[in-house]
Amino acid sequence: MVRAVIIAIPLFILQLSFARPAIQAAETLTVGFGLADVTPEVGGEAPVWIAGYGQNRPATSVHDPLYARALVVSDGQKRVALVSVDVVGLQYPTVQEIRKRLTGYDYVLVASTHNHEGPDTVGIWGPSPFQTGVNPKYIEHLVKQTVIAIENADKARADVTAAYGTAANGQLLRDSREPIVKDDILRVVRFNAAGTGKPRCLLVNWSCHPEALASRNQAVTADFPYYAIRDLEAKYNCPVVYFSAAVGGLMAPPRDLYKLPDGSSMPDGSFEFSELYGKDVARLAVKAIDAAEPIKLTPIRFAAKPIGVPLANRLYRIARAAGVLKREGRKWTGDPENLGEVVARDNPKEVPSGVTEVGYVQLGELNIAAIPGELYPELVYGRCQDPADPGADYPDAPIEPAVVDILPGKKMLLFGLANDELGYIIPKRQWDEKAPFAYGHKDAQYGEGNSCGPELAPILLGSLKRRVAEVTGAKASK
Ligand SMILES: [Zn+2]
Repeated sequence: MVRAVIIAIPLFILQLSFARPAIQAAETLTVGFGLADVTPEVGGEAPVWIAGYGQNRPATSVHDPLYARALVVSDGQKRVALVSVDVVGLQYPTVQEIRKRLTGYDYVLVASTHNHEGPDTVGIWGPSPFQTGVNPKYIEHLVKQTVIAIENADKARADVTAAYGTAANGQLLRDSREPIVKDDILRVVRFNAAGTGKPRCLLVNWSCHPEALASRNQAVTADFPYYAIRDLEAKYNCPVVYFSAAVGGLMAPPRDLYKLPDGSSMPDGSFEFSELYGKDVARLAVKAIDAAEPIKLTPIRFAAKPIGVPLANRLYRIARAAGVLKREGRKWTGDPENLGEVVARDNPKEVPSGVTEVGYVQLGELNIAAIPGELYPELVYGRCQDPADPGADYPDAPIEPAVVDILPGKKMLLFGLANDELGYIIPKRQWDEKAPFAYGHKDAQYGEGNSCGPELAPILLGSLKRRVAEVTGAKASK
């Protein structure tokens, strides 16, 4: 396993490395990988509250370290950082803080794997619903380390060629909410050292909640991505960056995937289950790598813009009022592209808006959609229920534009929880909070309680469409 050693680097050396692209020929692809440890201190002064599932889950040990893994990609003109962190979700203000501490980058994208076995980085998983689970000192540590990972990646940049491949396996996903729609395609980019063709780094993109360890585990772990990355790094002798894709809906490891010696299903919630699942994801990645074909990743272009989203979810607003969820509120203008003024205190009669960001990065032939939350796979492929179930709350809502139709080419990656975590992004016509319920259910299906609201999907996909149009020059439509 090849891993960068983290050392303190004097600032002047870092600044020297920034001067490099100016003398580089345009259209030469350079890529570097950097790593930094973001494991919280367990057993120290402050408790570590594990995020995901319910509240009040203190960490008691560390099973495997959590990392920020960064790729810095340059075409000689533009320099972009793509980072994945082994946490449940980073809030937009945290990502903005990371960006503030970096200079010389055209775009910095920081995504979370959505790890359900690491520290609370959002606030809602503290000892009780009214006490934050976030330790500000830990967030500061995470910000610092993520900056180090990016700077290490930048210093490690070298000429590469690239290949892109996919492999599918729907057996590896459980969808616990109707309609059953999965994104069962694992996508990889293999970066090879120019000249030798030896692998320098792998990027893996798969749509599954990292929750193989389930809700009772108290040992900090990166969950199944830890095992998937471990196996791939050993096989290819190069670092791996793992990005979660469309995990909404809700995509999780199937519970009946592995058998115990007595023939019964192995329950999830163990390291054994997590390892078996991680190994399966690694095997699927190997298939995708075997199928990979050369891809041109230059020139680099991108578009990203802060937008407003109404925070309709009452629970989110209560959490904000209690100081558990620390997000700025703004007046909702009705137009996501037009941010309203900051409101010091929410008017209980009005829905405030929060600021988030949707991004589009075009690396030559490769299209990357950066979505700030947990996208339902329906929205990747346009497979929303049609006609909508009359029991749903907005059966007449138009189907949102699909990611595969918005992107200008078939070679794509989808980074979920990119730059923010807004919760579930549910197709509006499948929003189903009020009785009667769709599919003849007696109770509401799980999901809406962890979403900003029914307007989130149309707003985010509309924004993606506009960002793509800004890059490709296509006519931007509302
Ligand atoms: Zn989730």
